[in-house]
Amino acid sequence: MKKEFVVIGLGRFGGSIVNELVELDAEVMAIDISPDRVEEYAQIATTAVSADTTDESALRSLGIRNFEHVVVAIGENIQASILTTLILKEIGVKHITVKAQNDYHEKVLRKIGADQVVHPERDMGKRIANNMVSNNILDYLELSDEYSIVEIRANEKLAGSTLIDLDIRAKYGVNIVAIKRHTQILVSPQAIEEIELNDILIVIGSDVDIHRFEKKAL
Ligand code: ATP
Ligand code: ATP
Ligand code: CA
Repeated sequence: MKKEFVVIGLGRFGGSIVNELVELDAEVMAIDISPDRVEEYAQIATTAVSADTTDESALRSLGIRNFEHVVVAIGENIQASILTTLILKEIGVKHITVKAQNDYHEKVLRKIGADQVVHPERDMGKRIANNMVSNNILDYLELSDEYSIVEIRANEKLAGSTLIDLDIRAKYGVNIVAIKRHTQILVSPQAIEEIELNDILIVIGSDVDIHRFEKKAL
């Protein structure tokens, strides 16, 4: 059974979700108020429909209730985004993901029961800034306000030592969950694993500890 999703709002963000879901072999109903946008996705999505999703009867007649997961990717029009989310909730959609435009928008979405609220522009901006500031951190994934997973390239200071030699967990409070080496990936490396120059260490920990590790160990 293929997974079935609905994506409402076919701007750059919603459109990209539709494309990726189709790539991942899911069934997608794509909805937009603009017939031109719908036309763009007619060949890509499983079904593409023009509808105003702030109109409850229109939403119901599309059988939205039968879909497990709906993404609301209406951006600029915050009122339409909120109203759509509210109606989806009332119809009884089990999982609703909504793109928020700002923090107030997010607060309202959470109050009315959105299961997941995403801020792609804000998060990608943070991520790029973090990557720009640090020479060592190659990539960065925020787990919560306090915890992250980062990719750090091993320099001369780390190369040739084992995890025991460096005593990383005890000294810095961070864990190396995997090591990428050429095309290999060592998941849950053993304490006796020797780090090589240019290994990519996948490190999990609090932001404070990761920062300390990056400053002191490298
Ligand atoms: P992106 O940044 O992802 O390109 P955006 O944040 O700028 O998008 P908009 O372009 O404002 O967001 O909205 C995304 C889409 O949502 C548009 O294609 C728009 O037609 C659609 N949309 C807006 N209001 C409604 C509505 N009431 N019902 C259905 N679709 C709507
Ligand atoms: P701990 O008491 O810290 O859990 P341990 O008893 O599990 O250590 P070992 O697994 O032999 O002992 O590891 C010795 C030390 O090597 C650890 O205390 C830690 O500092 C470091 N270490 C081992 N594996 C990792 C890892 N994956 N990431 C970071 N540090 C590690
Ligand atoms: Ca936008």
